[in-house]
Amino acid sequence: MLTYSHQNIDQSDIDALCKALKGEFLTGGKRVDDFEEALASYVGVKYACVLNSATSALHLAFEALKVKDKLVLSPAISFVATSNAALMAGAKIDFIDIKNDGNIDEKKLEIRLKKAQQEKEQVGAIVGVDYAGNSLESDELLRLSKLYNVPFLDDASHALGSTYKGVKVGKKANLSIFSFHPVKPITTFEGGAVLSDDKDLIEKIKLLRSHGLVKKRLWLYDMLDLGYNYRLSDVACALGLNQLKKLDLNLAKREQIASFYDKEFEKNPYFSTIKIKAYKTSSRHLYPILLNPKFYCQKEELFERLLNLGIGVQVHYKPAYEFSFYKKMLGELYLEKADNFYKAQLSIPCHQQMSLKDAKFVRDSLFKLFEELDKKGYCE
Ligand SMILES: *Cc1c(COP(=O)(O)O)cnc(C)c1O
Repeated sequence: MLTYSHQNIDQSDIDALCKALKGEFLTGGKRVDDFEEALASYVGVKYACVLNSATSALHLAFEALKVKDKLVLSPAISFVATSNAALMAGAKIDFIDIKNDGNIDEKKLEIRLKKAQQEKEQVGAIVGVDYAGNSLESDELLRLSKLYNVPFLDDASHALGSTYKGVKVGKKANLSIFSFHPVKPITTFEGGAVLSDDKDLIEKIKLLRSHGLVKKRLWLYDMLDLGYNYRLSDVACALGLNQLKKLDLNLAKREQIASFYDKEFEKNPYFSTIKIKAYKTSSRHLYPILLNPKFYCQKEELFERLLNLGIGVQVHYKPAYEFSFYKKMLGELYLEKADNFYKAQLSIPCHQQMSLKDAKFVRDSLFKLFEELDKKGYCE
């Protein structure tokens, strides 16, 4: 099966892991600090804290921002962990509609911020997701963050290595989150990180990562806060360090596949793709195609037939407010762009483990299937 995304594990990763396994510390050792330093330096920020998942990273980021009982404004299209983590930290959530590229709509965000100001609702954070690796309009989000005096959190789980106006994604926001799940740009099996220039926030997150404990002397500890065990092991960090070394090479390979698709799919009659603007580069974590509306009702058939051909497609994402849990909490919500995005979106295989020949197979299969579906035409 040609999966929509895939990890890259080679002999150098295995060697790094074996070395770490033979080391003195399997967890809580120097490799954790080394990985944090390497990440911060790669992205161009001062501090990093690695954790056992991006979900943990989001949770502690929201706790450090003290969002409890405040409103968190989150994009309607994301993995559920983004908004779940805000709820875990005691926030109230509201979803903001997206633009055609799947990223949060800054204009709608501003309207919601104005409303909150008028109604004296306290906003704890604004959240963006760099959908599929395509950077947020960070300058615009920063402007809103300053104007309304609300922290800006970037869930950059898709976007390690992406750039915006010549700087790495993760550099602009108050706090940025990365995921090291195997489908993401680099992996530590499970894992995640928070990056920031704000020393106090990162220190708070490090405290919460390990039970809220601080070492005093000899056996003496103090517990300053109610924390968790969200640590990432030294063995995982050894993998992360080696993965980071290969990231740029892997991104270049992904770019090759993605730009092939961009070119081949230009102006086809069946679906559109997301153009990456000239002042950005994308990690190409996902390659989304957006079906023309007349094919919406045939998406299930298309999905199944692609799987049967060994083309591992996926849908990113069902809007969180359409899940039972959120419906119970928020009632029926409808955000037009997000709703249509969900109907239209399909992620096709795009990663460093596939060849141009694979990409051609995906292209040919898609065109053939769409032609057949078009002839059936039962959506009309
Ligand atoms: C993958 C992902 C997460 C969660 O990452 P984990 O490391 O699996 O916890 C959060 N947000 C987004 C946008 C993601 O894609």
